[in-house]
Amino acid sequence: MLTITLLGTGSPLPDPNRAGPATLVQGAGESYLVDAGRGVLMRLAGAGVAPSQLDAVLLTHLHSDHFTDLNDVITTRWIGTFEPTPLRIIGPPGTAGVVDAIMASLGPDVAYRIAHHDDLDYEPPVEVTEVESGVIDLPGATTITVAPTDHRPVEPSIGFRFDVDGASAVTAGDTVPCAGLDRLCAGAQALVHTAIRKDIIADLPIQRIVDVLDYHSSVEEAAQTAARAGMETLVLTHYVPAFAVGEGDDWRDLAGAHFDGTVVVGDDLHQVEIAPAS
Ligand SMILES: [Zn+2]
Ligand SMILES: [Zn+2]
Repeated sequence: MLTITLLGTGSPLPDPNRAGPATLVQGAGESYLVDAGRGVLMRLAGAGVAPSQLDAVLLTHLHSDHFTDLNDVITTRWIGTFEPTPLRIIGPPGTAGVVDAIMASLGPDVAYRIAHHDDLDYEPPVEVTEVESGVIDLPGATTITVAPTDHRPVEPSIGFRFDVDGASAVTAGDTVPCAGLDRLCAGAQALVHTAIRKDIIADLPIQRIVDVLDYHSSVEEAAQTAARAGMETLVLTHYVPAFAVGEGDDWRDLAGAHFDGTVVVGDDLHQVEIAPAS
């Protein structure tokens, strides 16, 4: 069994009901956090998971809304554990520089806490791995495979495929349809895909918002990606523009016109269970 929890279904636009982009993928007793947007630890607490329980944090790309609370994950895991337990952070090339800068920004805080707590004499341990494709070398039971996506000019960006206990799911992140994502999805059961309503956004009078059209998938395009791969389930997230909590039937209908499987449109903390493929 593989469990997907939508921790944050929001976008860069602040929303009182939606945390920033983040998805929890769990199987075989392991927990992987995909992206770490605004409010991620509040939602992780809502899902009953402590930062110390994360096996890795996976970043799809280095847009700020996808890692704005990574500093909180690093700090809270550090002060919430009682021996050095390195936080594994996996992301595209460029991730190490971003993490180094976060660590530099935490410098005063780290010094205060080490000075204050006799039993805390080490800095937050982090292990950064930069990847663009292939299988990540991890000690757990979950196989995580990476492929490049297309979110240009954000480059490189990556998607992740999780295979555990006979179940499989892909987290696409922000991307237009592309060969790398198709490769990752082939033979997998579920796709978690960020999506925007191009039919709505295209008519807005604000160019800076209209600009997002060219590097995200529409609901229809996300559905077509899932359909091409013959997947069972499409989970939409990162809703732009966001709909009111509990709604979203129109998003489900738009996707359903292009995909015969199950379309999930959920709010923060919505969970989807993927049973092993029969
Ligand atoms: Zn992005
Ligand atoms: Zn985004």
